[in-house]
Amino acid sequence: MRLIRFQAKKEPPQYGWINNDNIGRIDGSPFGEFQRSETTFHLESVQLLAPVLPGKIICVGRNYAEHIKETNAEIPTTPLLFLKPPSSVIGSLQTIFLPPQSQQVDHEAELAVVIGKRGRWIQPDEVSSYIYGYTVGNDVTARDLQRKDGQWTRSKGFDTFCPLGPWIETEFNPSDAMITCHVNDELRQMASTRDMIFHIDQLIVYASSIMTLDPGDIIMTGTPAGISPLRPGDVVEVAIEGIGKLRNTVAVENH
Ligand code: ZN
Repeated sequence: MRLIRFQAKKEPPQYGWINNDNIGRIDGSPFGEFQRSETTFHLESVQLLAPVLPGKIICVGRNYAEHIKETNAEIPTTPLLFLKPPSSVIGSLQTIFLPPQSQQVDHEAELAVVIGKRGRWIQPDEVSSYIYGYTVGNDVTARDLQRKDGQWTRSKGFDTFCPLGPWIETEFNPSDAMITCHVNDELRQMASTRDMIFHIDQLIVYASSIMTLDPGDIIMTGTPAGISPLRPGDVVEVAIEGIGKLRNTVAVENH
């Protein structure tokens, strides 16, 4: 199933499912008991929203060797975790705003895992039962502020710095899927999820040994090589084979 959140004219945001361009409602909670209604909307008549409102977004830094090389960092011996605030989330087709505090905002194409069940100290053989599905993420980063601050809350935490979507794919095999990032149709990033240093099972075991994971939480699994700056007017597209394409425009933040 492809799970979405969407807004039809004059109605509050709601969960739904999408098949080709046809959308049906979800009655109940997608993380609990629910039923799928027949498709009654067309994609063009609704606005897609971020497919989930996560309680927390756990991110992994330095999880692809080629990206570690391009940033002159060391290969970590345990996963390097940091958090992005839920207020940074936007959906596909929404705008990434470049904040006035930064002169270099980069894209980071990433596979995002969506947690489906509450858990702490999750064991390796139990991991799959805690995964709801997968979506496409862009861990937008103010690179100059990341270097300057030493810790990453500011550089990773601006509003609009966590595009997610366009939907959650519940039937997806993450072991060897291609991730690409195009800016204005030019290829910038391309790698397979096979190249992750710490794989999804290890990341979930590790993160849940620190904090309770809740339904809807997101784990961003790190970016491959090829990060590059975004400019006003750019269109950035992150695609993952088997899930879909997350497309965002870029503009300067007016405040
Ligand atoms: Zn990242």
